[in-house]
Amino acid sequence: MICPKCENQYGNDVEICPICLQELISEEAFELLFLRKNNWVVVYITSEIIQATMIKDNLENEGIQAIILNEQSSNFPIPGDLSVIKIKVREEDSDKAIELIDKMINE
Ligand SMILES: [Zn+2]
Repeated sequence: MICPKCENQYGNDVEICPICLQELISEEAFELLFLRKNNWVVVYITSEIIQATMIKDNLENEGIQAIILNEQSSNFPIPGDLSVIKIKVREEDSDKAIELIDKMINE
C-alpha cells in the first residue's frame, strides 16, 4: 500500500499513512495516478514482450525512464499472442525516445 501524498510504501495491514493521515492506495492505483501526473505518452506498441523489454532496456541505457504496460484484458481472453504491449515514456522524453526506437527497429 502506498500513500498518494508522500509516496511512502507500507505493508498491506496499514490503511492510513501515519505521516499525512491520508488513506493509502494500492500499488496499481498509485501507478495510474503517477502516470497521469507525469504525462506519460505511448511511444511504441508491440505484441512481443521480448521486444518491449529490449526497447525499455535500450531507452534506460540512454537515460530515459520507460515503462511497459501490458494491456491484454483478462475480460476478453484472446487465443494466441495478441496482447497489446505499450511502451510509455515521459512527455518531455518522447521525441528522443521515438528517434531511438526508430534506430533500434531499423538496425
Ligand atoms: Zn503519507
